[in-house]
Amino acid sequence: MKHRLRSAKLSRVRGRARKAAKIRGKEKKTHSKAVSSKSSHKSSRIANKFPPVKKARYLFVTGSMSGLGKGLVTASIAKLLQSQGFNVSIAKIDPYINVDAGTMSPFEHGEVFVTADGYEGDQDLGTYERFLDKNLNRAHNITTGRIFSQVIAKEREGKYLGKTVQPIPHITDEIKDALHSIAQRENADFVVVEIGGTVGDIENQLFLEAAKQIAFEEPAKFVHVVYIPELTLKEQKTKMAQHSVRSLQSAGIDPNFLIARSENPLGEEARRKLALFCNVKYSNIISSHNVGDTYKMPLVFIEQNFDKLILEEFGLKNGRANLDSWRRAVERKERAQKKITIGIVGKYSRLQDSYVSIVHALRHCEHTLGIRINVEWIDSERLEEGLMLDNTQIDGLIVPGGFGNRGVEGKICAIRYARENGIPFLGLCLGFQLAAIEYARDVLGLKDANSTEFTKTKNPIIYLLPGQDLNKLGATMRLGNCPFTIKKKSLTHKIYGKLLMGERHRHRYEFDNRYKKRFEAGGMIFGGISADKLRLAETLELPQDKHPFFFATQYHAEFTSRFERPSPVFLAFAKAAAEKA
Ligand code: GLN
Repeated sequence: MKHRLRSAKLSRVRGRARKAAKIRGKEKKTHSKAVSSKSSHKSSRIANKFPPVKKARYLFVTGSMSGLGKGLVTASIAKLLQSQGFNVSIAKIDPYINVDAGTMSPFEHGEVFVTADGYEGDQDLGTYERFLDKNLNRAHNITTGRIFSQVIAKEREGKYLGKTVQPIPHITDEIKDALHSIAQRENADFVVVEIGGTVGDIENQLFLEAAKQIAFEEPAKFVHVVYIPELTLKEQKTKMAQHSVRSLQSAGIDPNFLIARSENPLGEEARRKLALFCNVKYSNIISSHNVGDTYKMPLVFIEQNFDKLILEEFGLKNGRANLDSWRRAVERKERAQKKITIGIVGKYSRLQDSYVSIVHALRHCEHTLGIRINVEWIDSERLEEGLMLDNTQIDGLIVPGGFGNRGVEGKICAIRYARENGIPFLGLCLGFQLAAIEYARDVLGLKDANSTEFTKTKNPIIYLLPGQDLNKLGATMRLGNCPFTIKKKSLTHKIYGKLLMGERHRHRYEFDNRYKKRFEAGGMIFGGISADKLRLAETLELPQDKHPFFFATQYHAEFTSRFERPSPVFLAFAKAAAEKA
């Protein structure tokens, strides 16, 4: 697979990273020794392509249970290293058997995050991209399903030369190969790897084994995230953490750092106990207490010198992370006085994890515009039952993506309400399709306008492109970054300030261009049109003299919003909502 990150930009980054490494001096002797030793510890190296990468260092992040915010810890560590001028890559290991997250229910797994190359991945990839402002791809999400299917495919092709194919070394080599390939393709100084799941579970044993082998051959350190409950008397209990570290040690791994997830800052007594019973340096125990705003986490780490301590562990000279502009952004948001409310109408509104990228895209607008955004979750099924939206309660409305017809009519009601009452509206993917249906029904008089995803109708304005095969799950989706051209002077043009853009897609159905003229005659503008020969509708909008902000995208603008570079679509929407408020 040709790697997209090999670009002029990357070589600039590399140049900077090389410079930073030079300034910081070389690793201590012990390390270079470890790197250069040609140890073939338990390694088959028969069918694998990527040998260890000389300069790369690995930081593995494990956890004592799920739901601790390991993704956030991993992203924050990578940010600390990146801000010191290192070329940092990041990967998520998911120990489930699914090859990717594309077929997993949002109820079970939260949001499916789509990368530019069209990979349907774990939502942690989204956290990493938002923190690092870096495009990731399918190589950065390693699942059991992916590793096993690769090994089985190689076995079938006879690539193991008649050997007995075993978990160790063949599965572990495949895992190591996947990590080495990231380091090599990106010429990374550091690869920060989050190992999903819980230490001690059967699921992630082979990944821990592979990590242990890497640490034997290359510079690698371990960060273990543990939960510190506070029971009665506010006493912070460390016993669970101690047992979890013991599990990790039974996998042959001694953690170099412990991250203590707790409600309040980690107290002296708990820290002392953790150091003593877990054999971790007192100074290497980092408190990761609740701070409300996830974007504060790298700052909380810097306060505890985590940036310096990591380099020290690797035998590198102390450098300091520079997150001044990040800090200023966090503070700007905290100072903000003006508060607005954005309603999000959703099917899974009880499970807000399904819309996590949208919520973050809104949060990125807060520090940029100096406002606070309160999100009001509106259940589309309750709208169908007659719940009314109230103009005074929301300053803007988002109808997000989704699949299937549950709650669809409720979402259409909400769109009509926003259109008729001048409430800033943003439709995303399904929200785009429903905005077209609503307009066709109410303004163009096509009373039975609908999508063939939901029903058969005489006016299927949203339909499957000829040649799409519904029986193959995922196979026919339009996925990942697709370029589109932008109509001059349209709202789309105003938003992006460009005539050519690309954004990420994840959908099967399309607006039927045979209806386009009728829509345009009825006042609708299609500001973005796909740059390929299909000329698919990418954005729809109403002129701003008719409505302050009525805009929808067939793509998911939320996937490209980053903390330090918010999505222009969300910015324009939030700005319009703030002006109304
Ligand atoms: N269900 C719609 C489609 O497949 C929209 C998908 C989405 O919102 N991601 O086209």
